[in-house]
Amino acid sequence: MKIDVPKIPIGIKMPDNFIMPCPFCGGEGRLNEFEMYYNQVHCINPKCNVNPETRFYETEGDAIRAWNTRVCDSSSVDILTRLAEMFNCEKENC
Ligand SMILES: [Zn+2]
Repeated sequence: MKIDVPKIPIGIKMPDNFIMPCPFCGGEGRLNEFEMYYNQVHCINPKCNVNPETRFYETEGDAIRAWNTRVCDSSSVDILTRLAEMFNCEKENC
């Protein structure tokens, strides 16, 4: 069985205020503005097992950028490629 490594698009430009879903549950991420300089994005799904939240940032944009930063970049593709190679190698006894 051959595993195909998914092609992850890199460099997609989203609107600045676009908040990605929670990486753990897929629920909605929401921006909290407690006071000036206390902007934070967190998962609002009450059933989320992790309930992640960002640190506090001076600006909304910085909080959203922090929340939207994911490891799905070229290094993730490298790791997935290596795992697929290892798996395929095991199957083919090489
Ligand atoms: Zn969540």
